[in-house]
Amino acid sequence: MSYSNLDRPVQFLKGVGPRRSEALVGMGITTARDLLYHTPRRYDDASTIQPIGRLDVGMDATAVGRVRSKGIIPTRRGLRIFQAVLQDDTGMITVAWPGQPWLDRKIREGDTLLVTGPVRFFHGRQIQPREHTLLARAGEETAPQGTIFVTYPASEEVPQWVLRGIFQRNLDALLGWADEDEYLTPEDLASLGLPRLSEALALLHRPPSVAEVRAGRRRLAYDELFFLQVVQAQARRLQALAAPGRAHRRTNELIRPLHEKLPFQLTAAQARVLREIYADMTSPRRMSRLLQGDVGSGKTVVALFAMLLAVESGQQAALMAPTEILAEQHARRIGEMVAPLHLEVDLLSARLTGARRKGVLARVADGTARLIVGTHALIQDAVAFHALGLVVVDEQHRFGVRQRMALAEAGDGGADVLVMSATPIPRSLAMAMYGDLDLSVLDELPPGRTPVRTALRPPDGRDAVYRFVDEEVGSGRQAYVVYPLVGESEKVDLLAATEEYERLRSQVFPHRRVGLLHGQLGSEEKDRVMRAFLAGEIDILVATTVIEVGVDVPNASVMIVEHAERFGLAQLHQLRGRVGRGAAESHCILIAEPGEEAAERLKVFVDTTDGFAIARADLRIRGQGDLFGAQQHGAPVLRFADLLEDEDLLARAQAEARALVERDPELAGPEHAALQAHLNARYRERLEMFGVG
Ligand code: ADP
Ligand code: MG
Repeated sequence: MSYSNLDRPVQFLKGVGPRRSEALVGMGITTARDLLYHTPRRYDDASTIQPIGRLDVGMDATAVGRVRSKGIIPTRRGLRIFQAVLQDDTGMITVAWPGQPWLDRKIREGDTLLVTGPVRFFHGRQIQPREHTLLARAGEETAPQGTIFVTYPASEEVPQWVLRGIFQRNLDALLGWADEDEYLTPEDLASLGLPRLSEALALLHRPPSVAEVRAGRRRLAYDELFFLQVVQAQARRLQALAAPGRAHRRTNELIRPLHEKLPFQLTAAQARVLREIYADMTSPRRMSRLLQGDVGSGKTVVALFAMLLAVESGQQAALMAPTEILAEQHARRIGEMVAPLHLEVDLLSARLTGARRKGVLARVADGTARLIVGTHALIQDAVAFHALGLVVVDEQHRFGVRQRMALAEAGDGGADVLVMSATPIPRSLAMAMYGDLDLSVLDELPPGRTPVRTALRPPDGRDAVYRFVDEEVGSGRQAYVVYPLVGESEKVDLLAATEEYERLRSQVFPHRRVGLLHGQLGSEEKDRVMRAFLAGEIDILVATTVIEVGVDVPNASVMIVEHAERFGLAQLHQLRGRVGRGAAESHCILIAEPGEEAAERLKVFVDTTDGFAIARADLRIRGQGDLFGAQQHGAPVLRFADLLEDEDLLARAQAEARALVERDPELAGPEHAALQAHLNARYRERLEMFGVG
């Protein structure tokens, strides 16, 4: 459907022939809209660009000028230097590129260049550029002095000056067409404090000042967040339509006795979160809620109360864990807590076979089983629930959106859904990733926890660390030694971990029992090793990050993390959560040869135990690209939005998107045609992922 002028292929724009259009397509720019959204990556103005006449030796210069003359200078030592003399209204300076004579073929007399680099003294002032950009060819227009120079993401085939030329000739038309994409009313814009789309794009492509770029970016950030939230709001609605929700009836006949039997008081955060959950569950609307809480914040107890509410009102409640061991751990803990209430937990795992499996399946089907814990075995076809009222999904990030939804559809559908995550991510990131869910946060730890003592050691302090580990093991404790296993170098890393295991086993701790756990082991082998560690049959467990998600070994009191600089802070925090689960004081020792950047990051980690603070720092330091890239399933790619700076916009975007989908679920109204077209054009993958559209 050709909806707007912006859907036209780039080839029909001025100055774009078949050859250039092919090159543009290679950069992901297919339509006029793609080009319009190809915004500058850098802005320079009088605050960054210095007049050539005022450049002094020792300065780090950014200068713009025309090439007055140029040539290759041979040196005595055979090095060939390309030189150009750059001129602006205030003066001239030599720019030299040692060893790059080929630039002589690229740069012509009369070209306009932007160069950045130190000013040195060498037969007069001279710039040796770190970076240079060809802004315009000889004879072509360039922005007059005093305005902003923008730099676009360019490529070998479509260099900067070509892109700038294309924009010079087409931007006015493109901006005119942008009005056809406008989906916000003047009232919306006023209340959001954002510019019109065409105005925002104009601010990005040719800002009157660098400060005004921000207003343009904020508008596109809002759009991006809003579109994602619309998709997620539609997914929410579809879930609600798939089956009507249940209004659970709270009788307190199980909830009250559990309160009485618990050996502790709920924290204020647990009580608040439970009120949110009870309100959802007792309303006829179906619950889709994310419960976020740091390791040890007491999510399991909260989940149990929610499960009891379902059982009180005559339904079943199921909890799905990512691994067999975790499922068993949950079943055991929950079993202990509900034993005084004369309730039992049924465990459905892949290890369960034959008659016992049949027995559990029968209990699940006839409703005798009321509290059911399992792995993804729970979502297999063979499992028929009698009346599934609540589904709890532990460690959300290990399951995709699809699996979460599949469990919710188990039984006759319509079950309330509570997903739990111990990955502390900033609220805004949670909203962006799981916008189809409501969010509850446990931001408080139960009292009386001794924080894990964390230290940073250089590699040459390793022997002392080993002695410490040996002492701890000597007094009956257990230890983890964690190696990174990341990305491309996975094979090399695995080798390193395996070799280190051999070294630790045979040379460093020959008198201790040392085990090895990594992701390449089969799941049965992994299971076997983890069980042995849990049972105390292994003293020191050498592992990769597979231990990140939760099995509790209360007796493990030391963790060493090798190459700590290679981990993200949030990931380190998850790892650290594996110790400090018992009574003994626990230690986390990071071994790293920290560079400056790594040192800053690791210091934040050593000094902080608050998972949410760490997550924010991680987001700030590493940037959201990295966070998204990591283990997070279903993370959207954000080009304009900044999850820390634009938190306010995100909250608005979510509220507006939900209200919109409420009013016009299919976006069928003519006033939503622009929006619908835009979603289809730019968010197809996302729509499919959430089963929308
Ligand atoms: P999470 O699943 O969030 O990591 P858990 O639910 O496993 O945390 O709780 C960690 C430990 O804290 C458990 O031993 C639990 O019994 C205990 N606990 C939970 N809530 C409280 C509380 N309010 N006061 C004291 N201890 C608590
Ligand atoms: Mg837990």
